[in-house]
Amino acid sequence: MFIRIRALLIIFALAGLATSSHAQAQAQKQVAITFDDLPVVSTVQTDRGWAEVTAKLLTTMKRNKIPVVGFVNEGKLYSDSKLNPKRVSLLKAWLDAGLELGNHTFSHRSLHSTPLAEFQSDVLRGEKVLRELSKAKHAKLRYFRHPFLHTGRSLETRKEFESFLNTHGYTVAPVTIDNTDWIFAGAYDNARDANDRAAMDHVAAAYIPYMDSTFAHFEDLSAKLFGRQIKQVLLLHANSINADHFAELVAMMKKRGYTFITLAEALTDDAYVSTDTTTGSYGISWIDRWALSRNVPSGFFKGEPRTPSFVMKLARIESE
Ligand SMILES: [Zn+2]
Repeated sequence: MFIRIRALLIIFALAGLATSSHAQAQAQKQVAITFDDLPVVSTVQTDRGWAEVTAKLLTTMKRNKIPVVGFVNEGKLYSDSKLNPKRVSLLKAWLDAGLELGNHTFSHRSLHSTPLAEFQSDVLRGEKVLRELSKAKHAKLRYFRHPFLHTGRSLETRKEFESFLNTHGYTVAPVTIDNTDWIFAGAYDNARDANDRAAMDHVAAAYIPYMDSTFAHFEDLSAKLFGRQIKQVLLLHANSINADHFAELVAMMKKRGYTFITLAEALTDDAYVSTDTTTGSYGISWIDRWALSRNVPSGFFKGEPRTPSFVMKLARIESE
């Protein structure tokens, strides 16, 4: 009898350990959040509208102490071919908030359809203001994000471009949690432009659960590929739906057990030195790239959440 009780106690103790390590694993999820297409990507084109989007995003980031990196298209800083100081001031606001800025090229072209030399000059053209602003704030300019996540149609191009980036002091900023926030944003903008408040709310109400399932999907792939939760990198865009609903996204991530880390911290995860030999026409998550490079069976990718069809329709987009 005594032995049996002891055995039971041990079982309970082990169960307790398992539960606490599960809780720990939950609490240890980490994500670095990045925003692309700065200063703003929206059908809103006024300086005032852009200032509002920026202010709302920064307020939520500061309130939750999220160390975001924002990727800039300097081409958007010009109005009538002149540098628009109001738009430059939006980038200053990001730096003033203690955040970091990165290069996303001047004009957001694809490396898949632009000759390498032209693409590289678009990268250098895209750092003129950024370098000055970052220097004045003693901030680093060290990350590059590929537009459309297009990293090159051949390994030669990719290698050559990466060595160019290296020469100019840039590290590639990968994305692991890829998603269609840009489609939701298009739908949201169109609804607002049509003064359709109900449609805006409908899109926003679908956005958070969609992002929640996207996180679940990439957590699942991370577990399957690495046997653990890697430090994730989330891609979002500096658009209106995020300006209005970023706080809800943050709440969703916290509920899933995430803490917010810098991109530098995320890149210390060994996952980011995984082999990537993909050269497809797509722009996909780095988890998908690492998996494809390992020749996983096609069933591996099953279950990626789809953008609801009413959102696609409202955004006037045919395919994700
Ligand atoms: Zn972009």
